[in-house]
Amino acid sequence: MRLAVVGSPSSVPTTAQSTSASARLFTDASAVIPGGVNSPVRAFAAVGGTPRFITSAQGAWLTDADGNRYVDLVCSWGPMILGHAHPAVVDAVRAAAGQGLSFGAPTPAEVELAKEIIARVRPVEQVRLVNSGTEATMSAIRLARGITGRTAIVKFAGCYHGHVDALLAQAGSGVATLGLPTSPGVTGAQAADTIVLPYNDLEAVRAVFAERGDQIACVITEAAAGNMGAVPPKPGFNAGLRDLCHAHGALLVMDEVMTGFRVSPAGWFGIDGVAGDLYTFGKVMSGGLPAAAFGGPATHMAHLAPAGPVYQAGTLSGNPVAVAAGLATLRNADASVYAALDANAARLAQLVGDALSAAGVEHHVQLAGNLFSVFFTDGPVHDYAAAQAAQNWRFPPFFHALLERGVYAPPSPFETWFVSAALDDDAFAVIEAALPAAAQAAAAAEAP
Ligand SMILES: *Cc1c(COP(=O)(O)O)cnc(C)c1O
Repeated sequence: MRLAVVGSPSSVPTTAQSTSASARLFTDASAVIPGGVNSPVRAFAAVGGTPRFITSAQGAWLTDADGNRYVDLVCSWGPMILGHAHPAVVDAVRAAAGQGLSFGAPTPAEVELAKEIIARVRPVEQVRLVNSGTEATMSAIRLARGITGRTAIVKFAGCYHGHVDALLAQAGSGVATLGLPTSPGVTGAQAADTIVLPYNDLEAVRAVFAERGDQIACVITEAAAGNMGAVPPKPGFNAGLRDLCHAHGALLVMDEVMTGFRVSPAGWFGIDGVAGDLYTFGKVMSGGLPAAAFGGPATHMAHLAPAGPVYQAGTLSGNPVAVAAGLATLRNADASVYAALDANAARLAQLVGDALSAAGVEHHVQLAGNLFSVFFTDGPVHDYAAAQAAQNWRFPPFFHALLERGVYAPPSPFETWFVSAALDDDAFAVIEAALPAAAQAAAAAEAP
């Protein structure tokens, strides 16, 4: 059965979902793409089953190769705050594409995108556009090392900053999903320059600075952690990091690739007001096309080539089509969109919590702004060890019961759920109808 992209929720299959087309595609893909996917978490390794091959998306809905429709609570891992195929974004992309796809020369629109970012995040005076969040964090680390002349960096267990060699140690996201300590291919030297500490543990940071303070180029942190599930910084944690960095001549790199332009117009900075020395952005700022950025005060950014000696470049950086998608997304993300994101996250978190309570499942629904995730444990989770210690074996049956009923949640207990402003009452009706059975499935799960 192939359903129209836009239709009433009554046309959503809730039982007897066919996945034969996705299964066939996954077999095909696995022959020509390692693991059948181009980014590991997509393979459903943590939850089992057949990853759905998506053929189109509109508003709050995904349609897969079998014609099944799902309410999308992943939103391409964050970017799609306006919903899929938003008319203003699609029009902007069409118009830009018609003017040529790439010039390898400066363009007027990239200046506008830089201004849009800077206008929203006060500590950022200049940005350099890149192609992915990974490139942004890699470049920010190089810049921090170039500015300070130091080699060591501090990161936190369970935080994910892209697949940069030096930042994969005890990383969150797919590294957590697959249970990897780090990755083969990362050299001992790269790992040795990375100091990994528990998230939300300011004492551990203080101790490391006391011992090696003159070697540390930077501390990199997710402004609010979203790659071990949603784990907000404890009150005073980000400010404490800033103070320790400044006392020891190190830079604080605020990774806002996930939180930026999603949790508020100014990202997490708009929530806690703690200024980092360097910032990384991605996801929302490119509206679903490949673009990202890093930035900071002009005095720091002046170290970057061609103004300064720290080299950084990109053939497709500032790509005009990606820039058009980003600009259209940010310009359409007005106060009503942020209000909708917050309201939708609160409504969804409440529904998930109520369903699990009704089924008697021990859980904690945790919010970081409008990011949220559910931990199968009875108290708040402040770090990666606590996230790993939860009853994560309850997640796969919970996930599959939702999926079979038309709700596409992230396929890992270590991933944040992402809402869009396009979630409407029809979408929530599907979610609400699916949750009791999913909560029952979580309740019935047995420890391995
Ligand atoms: C997604 C993410 C990255 C990596 O971005 P990519 O575009 O996937 O390379 C970096 N940092 C954080 C906090 C992220 O969530």
